[in-house]
Amino acid sequence: MPCPYTTRSNMRKKPEFDAKYKEHLRHKISDIKKKVGALIVAHNYQRDEIQEIADITGDSYALARKVTQAKEKIVVFCGVKFMAESAYMLSPDKTVLLPVEEAGCPLADMATVEKLREKKKEYPDAAVVSYVNSTASVKAESDICCTSSNAVQVINSLKEKQIIFVPDKNLGRYIAEHVPEKEVILWDGYCVVHMRLTKEEVLKTKELRPNAEFIAHPECREEVLELADYTGSTAGMIKYVNGSSSKEFIVGTEKGIIYRLKRDNPEKEFYVPTDQFICANMKLTTLGWLARSLEKMVYKIEVPEETAEKARKTLERMMEVTK
Ligand code: SF4
Repeated sequence: MPCPYTTRSNMRKKPEFDAKYKEHLRHKISDIKKKVGALIVAHNYQRDEIQEIADITGDSYALARKVTQAKEKIVVFCGVKFMAESAYMLSPDKTVLLPVEEAGCPLADMATVEKLREKKKEYPDAAVVSYVNSTASVKAESDICCTSSNAVQVINSLKEKQIIFVPDKNLGRYIAEHVPEKEVILWDGYCVVHMRLTKEEVLKTKELRPNAEFIAHPECREEVLELADYTGSTAGMIKYVNGSSSKEFIVGTEKGIIYRLKRDNPEKEFYVPTDQFICANMKLTTLGWLARSLEKMVYKIEVPEETAEKARKTLERMMEVTK
């Protein structure tokens, strides 16, 4: 029997079939969600249909914080593993599910506990500040965590002059410029997605869109950030665009954020300098995987208590400094 999906006549019906199937999945997700009393949270880089169906969208830290305040005992975290880990560590009484087990973050994986211990031996007087985009074990080995929006505040709160900043060198270098009184020791890690953006691509897009403002994430290369009208976290970018009188923006971060920018500002136009501005790990989560996650209660994210206890303290210290 021919495959019902790939026969020529049915291939013509594929868009219609896909739309119906997505509708079916949306109903299924909403039914199970109600039945089990779950909360769906989605990162700003998730697919449009995932952001659309989520109860809350935001950056990783904002989502982890919202999870702590939620009454629901089951949380489906549409994002990547380190995000679900942070949510679990801050809310250990909740079941935190990650719809796709393989959704990891290459940047987080660029720092290991062993290498961090070596670095600490090299700089025994330094404090370790880990970006939230790090594994639970690396957080547990750090003194305090930070996000791209509160890193300067976090570093300024420390008495140590030397800071080992792990794992993103671009963000670390950007922060160092804002805390000249500190010596920031950079880790050789980077976000594979933000590193893809080149100065030439930005200049070319600026030429095509001369009235557009360029907004960029500090995980981008130094020469890219030099061209930015605004540099900040995804939450910062959303706030900046919402408050700006400009009508056009070139977006220097993962293109998933355009869903939220467009939703808040339907009259404004957004352009990405490269079609490659996609985080493959973030895009692994589809409606199908989300439905399966709720249906089968997978994949439960947990962190061994010894690690979780130490890592939780670094997250709580950050919350204390920035409250
Ligand atoms: S965009 Fe970069 S930092 Fe964020 S999850 Fe993807 S690889 Fe990791």
